[in-house]
Amino acid sequence: MKSLTDNVTVLKGIGPSREAALKRLGIRTVGDLINHLPKDYRDRSVITPITGLSSGYYTVKARVTAAPAVAIKHKVTLVTAALSDSTGELSAVWFNQPYMKNALKKGEYIFSGEVSYFNGLFTMEQPEYEAVTGKELLSGARIVPVYPLTEGLSQKVLRRILRDALDAYACCIGGEVLPEAVVKSQELLDRRGALTNIHYPESAKLFRAARHTLVFTELFMLQYSLLNIRGLVRKMPGIALADTDERDFLAALPFRFTAAQERVFGELKADMSSGHVMNRLVQGDVGSGKTAVAMASMFLAAKNGLQSALMAPTETLARQHYVSLQRVFDKVGLKTGLLTGSLSLKEKAAVKERLSRGELDIIVGTHALIVDNVEFERLGLVITDEQHRFGVRQRGLLNEKGGCPHCVVMTATPIPRTLALILYGDMDISVIDELPPGRKDIKTNAVNSGYRDRVFTFIKKQVDSGGQAFIVCPAIEDNERGLNSVKTYAAEAARAMGVKTAIMHGKLRQDEKNAVMGGFASGEIPVLVATTVIEVGIDVPNATVMLVENAEQFGLSQLHQLRGRVGRGAEQSYCILITDAASDVTKERMKAMTATSDGFKLADLDLRIRGPGDFLGTRQHGLPELMIANLYRDGAILKEAQAAAKAYWEEHGNEWAGAELGGIKLII
Ligand code: ADP
Ligand code: MG
Repeated sequence: MKSLTDNVTVLKGIGPSREAALKRLGIRTVGDLINHLPKDYRDRSVITPITGLSSGYYTVKARVTAAPAVAIKHKVTLVTAALSDSTGELSAVWFNQPYMKNALKKGEYIFSGEVSYFNGLFTMEQPEYEAVTGKELLSGARIVPVYPLTEGLSQKVLRRILRDALDAYACCIGGEVLPEAVVKSQELLDRRGALTNIHYPESAKLFRAARHTLVFTELFMLQYSLLNIRGLVRKMPGIALADTDERDFLAALPFRFTAAQERVFGELKADMSSGHVMNRLVQGDVGSGKTAVAMASMFLAAKNGLQSALMAPTETLARQHYVSLQRVFDKVGLKTGLLTGSLSLKEKAAVKERLSRGELDIIVGTHALIVDNVEFERLGLVITDEQHRFGVRQRGLLNEKGGCPHCVVMTATPIPRTLALILYGDMDISVIDELPPGRKDIKTNAVNSGYRDRVFTFIKKQVDSGGQAFIVCPAIEDNERGLNSVKTYAAEAARAMGVKTAIMHGKLRQDEKNAVMGGFASGEIPVLVATTVIEVGIDVPNATVMLVENAEQFGLSQLHQLRGRVGRGAEQSYCILITDAASDVTKERMKAMTATSDGFKLADLDLRIRGPGDFLGTRQHGLPELMIANLYRDGAILKEAQAAAKAYWEEHGNEWAGAELGGIKLII
C-alpha cells in the first residue's frame, strides 16, 4: 500500500545522490516532498507567436531547425540557435554554457526568456527551454513553479520529481482534512485540487483558490486545536475560592488601582471563583501595573489557604519582584520566598523545605522553580511574568506539578488581537489598557551620532540633578560588525561625562549582575551601560534617560520595551535613539517611535515591517511552524478561519477528531 511516509526513493529517477540532495532540503518522504511548496511562480501560460514579440519576457513555441552555432567572443562562449515558428524567426543565445550546443536537438521546444531587439533580429537571452514531446510540459506553456533548491538539484529535476509524486500518490492526498461542511461553506477547493494547483496551477484563479484553501486549512486546524485545548482546560475542575475579600491587600498598597487594573483583577477573581481552572493572559503595556494585579490574586489565593508561584524570566527580575512583593505582603502577614539558580544548595533546600511544609504563601523565582524538584503543600496559582521569554511548553510543565493550579500569564508585548488568538488561543485574554495617573509622556528623540556629545552633556546634567540613565548598546564586546559595545562604550562614556558607569550584560555571573543592579537601584551607579538584558521589567523609578545606540538594530517593540524602563517616577523622562542608518525602514521606525507611545500601534507597525517570525520569535513561543500561512499577510483569512473554527467548535467541540496540534504537518 502506498503511503505518504514512503521514502522518496520509491519515485522514478531518485538515486542516492538525489536522495542526499533532497535530504538537504529536509525531504525524506513523499509527504515531505509534496509539502515542499514553490517559493515563486513564472507565468508562462501565454504562448506568443514570434511575429508578436517585442522587448520583454516571453514564452514561444518554436522549432530548432539547425545545430546551434558556437562562437567565442571576448573569452565568452556564445551558443546561438535559430528558432522559428509558422510566423517568423528568432534567435536564442546562451552565454558560457557550451553544453547547450549538444543539449538542443532539432525539434520543437517551448522557450521562455527575455527578448530584446538586436541587429535587426529579435533575440531571446538564456531562455529556459523544454522539449515538446507529447508528454505534459512542466517548465513551459503554463504557470511554472519555482522551488527552493539545493546544490545538485535543478528546477527541472525537482519539477519532474514533484509531478511524479503528485501523480503516483494522488490517491493518498485525496482525503479531506477539514469537515465537509466547512469546505462547502467556505467554498474551498477539495484537498487534491488544492495541492495539485499549489504546485502546478491550472490558472491564476485556481492558484489563488488553492493557496486560499491551504492557508485556510492550516489556520483552521491550528485554531481548532487551540480551542480544543482551551475547552479542555476550561472544563477542568479548579479550586474555587470561597473568600474573595481583598480589602486588606488594597489598603496595604501605596496607590489605588486604576479602573483597568480593577476590571482585570475582577476577571481573575471571577475565574478563580468559578470552580474551573483559570487560564488567562494578562496583557498590559510596560508600566501598566500588571504586578499589582498579580499580587492581588496571590493575596486571595493565600487567604484561601493556597500557595502561589510567580515566575520571572531572569534572576534579576525575580529578585526585584521578590523585594517589591515582600514590601506589601509583609504588611498583610503573608510569607514570601525567593528561589533562584544562584542560591546555594543549602539555601535552596531551606526554601523548598518551607514551601513543602506550607510555611511560605508565595514563592518568586526563575526556571529553577520548574527545573528543580520543588514540592508545594498546596499550589493554587501560577503566575508567569513576561511570558514571551518562556514558551508554551514550559508553562505546561509547572501546571502539571501542582495538579491543576490556576494560571495567569502576564505579558508586556502588545500582541495584536488576531495574533494573540493564535498564540494564546488556549487562553482567555484580559487587557490592562490604562497607565497609572500622573505618568508623563516620555520625550523621545532620534538623532545621528554627531549629536552624541550633546547627549552626553544632557545626561551629565540629569545626573547632576539626581537622575540616572540607561545606555543600551547592541554588542557586549567590540567585534568586526563595528557596533557599539557595552565594554568600550562604558569606559568612554565615563571619561566623556566624568561620571561613574557600570556594565550589565548576559555574560556576567549572577552575583556580578546582582551587585550591578543593586548599585544602580541605590543610585550609587548613575549610568548603566547594558545590552538588552535590561529590556524586561527592570524597575528603577529614579532613571530618567534611556539612550539607545545603534537603534536601527532593534525592533520597534523592543525599543518600546526599553523606553518603558524610564518614566516610572515623578520626573520628566527622555528616550534618545542614536542611529546613523539612513534606510527608509529605519527612518520610518524612528519616526514611529518619536510619534507614538502606544505599544499596540508600534507592535502592529513592527509586524508589518518585520513580519511575524521576527516579531514573535515563533520558536520561542512553541508554535507549530506554519508552512504556508503568513500571519500578517493572511490576516483576512486568519479572521475567517478563526470564525469558522469557533463556530464549528461550538457545535462539535472535541468530538471532531480531525484537529490535532503539534508535530503534524498541516498541509497534507
Ligand atoms: P508592569 O505592568 O510593566 O509590570 P509594574 O507592575 O512594574 O508594571 O508597575 C509599574 C510601576 O507602577 C510600579 O512602580 C508600580 O508600583 C506602579 N503602579 C502600579 N499600579 C499603580 C497605580 N494604580 N497607581 C500608581 N502607581 C502604580
Ligand atoms: Mg512587570
